[in-house]
Amino acid sequence: MKTTDRRSFLQAGLTGLAGLASVPLLGGGLAGCAQTASRPTVAGGSATASKTALSTAKLTERVTVISGVPGNVIALAADDGIVLVDSGATASASAVRKSLGSAKVRTLFNTHYHADQTGGNALFGAAGAEIHAHKITRQWLETDFYVPAENHWVKAQPKAAWPTKTFREKGTLTAGAEHIEYGYLLEAHTRGDIYVFFRDSNVLAVGDVASPERDPVHDWYSGGWLGGRVDAMDDLLEIAKDDTKIVPAYGPVMTRAQLQAERDMMLKLYDRTTDLTDKGRSAQDMLEAGVLKDVNREFKDPYRFLYDVCKGHWAHYTNFGGNIV
Ligand SMILES: [Zn+2]
Repeated sequence: MKTTDRRSFLQAGLTGLAGLASVPLLGGGLAGCAQTASRPTVAGGSATASKTALSTAKLTERVTVISGVPGNVIALAADDGIVLVDSGATASASAVRKSLGSAKVRTLFNTHYHADQTGGNALFGAAGAEIHAHKITRQWLETDFYVPAENHWVKAQPKAAWPTKTFREKGTLTAGAEHIEYGYLLEAHTRGDIYVFFRDSNVLAVGDVASPERDPVHDWYSGGWLGGRVDAMDDLLEIAKDDTKIVPAYGPVMTRAQLQAERDMMLKLYDRTTDLTDKGRSAQDMLEAGVLKDVNREFKDPYRFLYDVCKGHWAHYTNFGGNIV
């Protein structure tokens, strides 16, 4: 059973930022996700990236994961240039570039707009890379936007950082011998998440839609919510095979079985939290009611996680039949 009516929300996505104007400007914020590349006050992202050691791990003959920038960047080596998935934080961009040797980056995918995935866009874009992303991700990068948790505006990224190839649903391309498939993951973590599947190498990049290491984050202000995350994980499970290497934005490479386990846990939390949201309960009420008990997960900041879950539920209550006014 789907937790959201996906089709009705394809149209909602078309309204983009306009639909966000009425979201209450209350606290919250994004644990570990960086919305801006330039402000040192933002947790995680560029401010800490330079202190983290970059490391590389070869996943397959053609695919390497670059970690500690501050999350994961994936590099596929093809005869006609490198394909990157995400560009890391701005502070890490030249180190990422250096780790790739002399080969040109021909194509860069952004899994979503956060600065720890797009901070290197300007460097690679200026050097001639085509930047592929969901249309909504481009909107966030090319427009000034407000961060409610920090009460400030973030400036748009420079034009060289903007995605040059955008899409709304899915697409394919080839890089040397590799067939690449990519597509939209509706409202899972932001409103512009995508996956990138290197079919021949059998590597699936999922951005922050899976979060095996950090507390899962819902950027409710940009449209992400727990129901969207569960649906998106179902979509990913349809794509992944038992032996597919699944690479999240942060943390270790996952197996399909591990992704399934995380999805099952998220569905359990979805059922519990929507039930309590329906009864008007707050994040604090949910914490005290023990909604995070009996799941195979140690949350580092349980209240923060539930706060963002609740904000997302309030923004999507018509999706689960809630009667909140
Ligand atoms: Zn993120």
